Amino acid sequence: MSQLLRHLRRRIAVEGPITVAQYMEDCLVHPKFGYYTTRDPFGMAGDFVTAPEISQMFGELIGVWTAHIWQDMGRPNPFNWIELGPGRGTLSADALRVMAGVNGLLDAIRVHLVEVSPELRNKQSDLLCTYAPQWHNDITDLPSNPGIVIANEFFDALPICQYQLAQDGWHERVISMDDDNNLCFALSQQVLRNPPLPFGMDTVRLGDIIEVPIASLSIIRHLRNRLMSDGGAALIIDYGHQRSAVGDTLQAMKGQAYHDILELPGEADLTAHVDFQILAETAREVGVVSWGPIDQGVFLQALGINARAERLMISANSEQYNSIHAALRRLTGPDSMGSLFKVMALTGKDMSPPPAF
Ligand code: SAH
Repeated sequence: MSQLLRHLRRRIAVEGPITVAQYMEDCLVHPKFGYYTTRDPFGMAGDFVTAPEISQMFGELIGVWTAHIWQDMGRPNPFNWIELGPGRGTLSADALRVMAGVNGLLDAIRVHLVEVSPELRNKQSDLLCTYAPQWHNDITDLPSNPGIVIANEFFDALPICQYQLAQDGWHERVISMDDDNNLCFALSQQVLRNPPLPFGMDTVRLGDIIEVPIASLSIIRHLRNRLMSDGGAALIIDYGHQRSAVGDTLQAMKGQAYHDILELPGEADLTAHVDFQILAETAREVGVVSWGPIDQGVFLQALGINARAERLMISANSEQYNSIHAALRRLTGPDSMGSLFKVMALTGKDMSPPPAF
């Protein structure tokens, strides 16, 4: 039995059933036994492959995007480059390499990484030490400068709450234990008077589940205030839905395959689809402008991924040529990440439309 399962059983025995959000948080970032705290899950040999790990082109184009915005803003110095959940640090490394070619940008850049996993902080440090990054446990203690915030496959890893409509009304979905001490889903005893229904959700049926991304919302509230006071933009890339919708999107993944959510706590990645609408509406409440979401393929093509691939192919051997070609298809193809992943930008006061939107 995993140490996290032992911890969860003890916790539920003492505190009673825990919410889906508490379960996700323990599974993913428990300081001793969490999934991200204890491993590097990326790459073909790991549990999942992210866009920056597929090709350097991904991070490079985000570097180009950032350089445009920096120039549009009148080349502020200092200028924050903030990555939320940088994984191995690959995206930042590729983006910063491109930014180094823009006169004055690297002098202005202050690199800030929001990362809870000590294991992944070490990896990030190996790749990014020349930029003297500063690490933060959360977004609230970042220094106040204009800047760019990048989040690739970050928001899908943050805890969500789930609510279900039963005969007597809405209940929160919780994790409990059955008679054999196995983890199981249950409903909280209390009926909720004011369920936080998603935007435009008038027709719900018995048994429907809705999700509220509580951790993402608290980050967006902080982010939107910073964008308004300091200036700058945020880029959020993830899989999810453009409009809030009913449904259970929680999923567990290990070794590139789906698993039961309660089967491997702390051993499998847990994610939920990102509800772009609720994030955008929340950001807009204070005057931040939201752009998109647009398909990742459209975004990368607007930034010139085809030309970048052709450049790389010129000096490639045949094996490299094939792998650049495959990466291009995977990142932009409508039947792969190109349309599954969406890109949304948020901009602060008096900003021009960001490139590609
Ligand atoms: N952006 C990277 C990694 C995505 S995986 C890529 O595209 O490859 C999610 C990342 O977010 C990991 O680095 C994980 O350790 C980090 N993370 C997860 N929950 C977090 C939290 N609550 N606060 C800060 N970082 C978190």
